[in-house]
Amino acid sequence: MRKAVFPGSFDPLTNGHLDIIERASELFDEVVVAVGINTNKRGLFTPAERLALVQTAVAGLPNVTVGQVEGLTVDYMEAIGAKYLVRGLRNGKDFEYERDIAEVNSVLAGVETVLLLAKPENQNVSSSMVKEIAKFGSDKLERFVPAVVVPALHAHYQD
Ligand code: ADP
Repeated sequence: MRKAVFPGSFDPLTNGHLDIIERASELFDEVVVAVGINTNKRGLFTPAERLALVQTAVAGLPNVTVGQVEGLTVDYMEAIGAKYLVRGLRNGKDFEYERDIAEVNSVLAGVETVLLLAKPENQNVSSSMVKEIAKFGSDKLERFVPAVVVPALHAHYQD
């Protein structure tokens, strides 16, 4: 069985992330979206909130589950028996970064990294850009994030 992990911060989940999840779910028997808990980086959403938003957004994908990762992704992968690591690429900067990490993960644990290219319409979509526009009360958030994330963003910036 081909099991893959798609790790990230997902603070919050965007349409770019969801597209990668959907495409990975067609390539692999099972995909685990791994929401990272980074103790050095305080996100807008708590890890529990980020996980719940991803869970709702992937509810229609039967071979996708969601987990939480604290520590090294490769250790998590070994624990759940996943051999493939999926990441998305938007541009050359993403590529440079991902190539270095993929090399390290290959040496550390023999993990195979599969890089999927962002769709043109998602190439400029990032969680930080979404937070920036949500701060100013945009009514165009649906263009960038799944429907479930829109009210969650508004709620954060209401007061
Ligand atoms: P991290 O902090 O681990 O980079 P992110 O949540 O920012 O976590 O991203 C998780 C993964 O999703 C990364 O591989 C990133 O390149 C990819 N990604 C982010 N935004 C997009 C997008 N718009 N289209 C495709 N892939 C994306």
